[in-house]
Amino acid sequence: MGHPLPIYNRRVPLKPKITLKCPICKKAVAKAAEDFPFCSERCRLIDLGKWASGQYVVSSQVHDTDDEDIQNLRDTPDED
Ligand SMILES: [Zn+2]
Repeated sequence: MGHPLPIYNRRVPLKPKITLKCPICKKAVAKAAEDFPFCSERCRLIDLGKWASGQYVVSSQVHDTDDEDIQNLRDTPDED
């Protein structure tokens, strides 16, 4: 008596849904999500803002004004 389970139900393992945690709020995000790996557009924009502000810090440290100062001295017209 009873229903024997169909072969395909017993042999094919259920595929677990692939999920990651949102890097911003640590909420589980499905891989099919529109804003993957972020849970929402809001978290995606927050991450983008963090990255952009980091870039500004790096570029300001690279800038060096020593050469400009020398250039200004040379360019000063010599009024006699
Ligand atoms: Zn999030």
